[in-house]
Amino acid sequence: MAGNAVGKHYGLQKFNGTARREKVEGILSLTGVSCIVLGLGWALCYLYFGRAELSIVFVALIAVGVLALLRSKRSDGASLLIVAHCIFLAVYAIALIDAPIAWVPRSVHLFMLPLAAGAAFTFEARERYGSLVFPLICLVSFAAFAVGALDPLAPGISPPVEVRAWGARSNVTLSMILLAAIFAIHRADIGRRLRMERELRRAVRNGEIEVHYQPQVRGGGAVSGAEALVRWRRPSGALLSPDAFIPLAEESALIGEISLEVLRQACATLKLWSDSPCTSQLRMAVNISPVQLLDEAFVPAVAAVIRQMDIDPSLLELELTESALSTNITAMVERMRALEALGVTWALDDFGTGYSSLSTLRTLPVRKLKIDRHFVQEAASQESALRLLGKIVEISQVMNMSALAEGVETVAQRDLLVGMGCDHFQGYLFARPMPAAVLQAWLEKRVDRLPG
Ligand code: C2E
Ligand code: CA
Ligand code: CA
Repeated sequence: MAGNAVGKHYGLQKFNGTARREKVEGILSLTGVSCIVLGLGWALCYLYFGRAELSIVFVALIAVGVLALLRSKRSDGASLLIVAHCIFLAVYAIALIDAPIAWVPRSVHLFMLPLAAGAAFTFEARERYGSLVFPLICLVSFAAFAVGALDPLAPGISPPVEVRAWGARSNVTLSMILLAAIFAIHRADIGRRLRMERELRRAVRNGEIEVHYQPQVRGGGAVSGAEALVRWRRPSGALLSPDAFIPLAEESALIGEISLEVLRQACATLKLWSDSPCTSQLRMAVNISPVQLLDEAFVPAVAAVIRQMDIDPSLLELELTESALSTNITAMVERMRALEALGVTWALDDFGTGYSSLSTLRTLPVRKLKIDRHFVQEAASQESALRLLGKIVEISQVMNMSALAEGVETVAQRDLLVGMGCDHFQGYLFARPMPAAVLQAWLEKRVDRLPG
């Protein structure tokens, strides 16, 4: 596997949308505070009744709460899984101690319900373990405790009866409040997404989709083309970056319309370049979402834009992220080949972060590997990243593809890459993404360094 180990090593995620981050942060903070308050209250209570051995269990709950708060800022899948499992174990252990006694039913197992709901609403549907398997484990455990199936495992160290009666009432109340709070956070999240989707639909109609361009250069400094990067210009004038709306667009089928708009604008710029001998050889790279490649209308739609805009298809390069190749690869490759037959070329984006095997790579109609910027940026400080960077450039050479390093920010990074045999670069060292008019002025200033 070329990218497998690497992708896991860096734990990279293409988009970590703001909306999801807010929701995960909200649920983790709520969980953290609840665990700390509950743990502290019960630990003190048991100490008061002289049951120090029981308060230790609640110290563990406090530790889980602190972990949840510490991890809430990171809001990543791994943090969520760690916290969810720690809470599960804590609730499980306390529910075992909480075996029913006369007049007092078991109540701690009720916390399995907000735990199941929290996981089901926080993990995305494609994260099957977190969104489905883990909630089911919680629900099965809840049912097992509820029917008394786990009573034989009770350690027989039940707390004093007066504490148990009071605890049962407070556990029922608190677990139901937590469940309601998790439903409320989820409802607010759905509302926010629906509003955003409505606004995005209107934005496409109102021409608020804007394309910025980031130049790509060769080792000697000559400009070879540019990558089209989408932006959303809000009526307030604010400019939203793709990670704030592309994931939502991909979920709501708006991605097709947005991408065609980007393709049209990028092809219009390409057409403009073709009018001047200085810019007529520049290539235009356009990002393609995997969702589009799974749509059978995609190939005819791209062909229609190429025809309408009257551009040279060999100057159009479509970029697909390596991680997109994990699902339905046969249908995707078929469409990639259909577009290649029209003259369009393909580049594999964020190379090194996905899961494509070298044998898959060999069968893809890809001419260029775009090395993910994390490798470039970590090569200076991490020996492993440096070695991986060299290997990726080597892979491109063995596969007869060109290599473009992304995120080149310093002269040292560029020189290192040139030494490794990398032949194309993109990054803030050369230029940041800019609007079409600014790009035109930038290109004119560098006319001496343009090919042709
Ligand atoms: P990408 O294709 O990997 O694009 C490169 C991203 O890295 C851009 O972020 C660019 O602004 C940023 N970048 C470029 N040079 C540097 C550098 O030297 N240092 C650092 N730190 N960053 C650099 P941007 O524009 O926010 O785009 C983010 C992602 O959004 C893109 O990643 C691409 O996957 C996606 N995207 C952008 N436009 C489109 C589009 O039209 N359609 C689709 N489906 N996705 C798009
Ligand atoms: Ca790209
Ligand atoms: Ca990239």
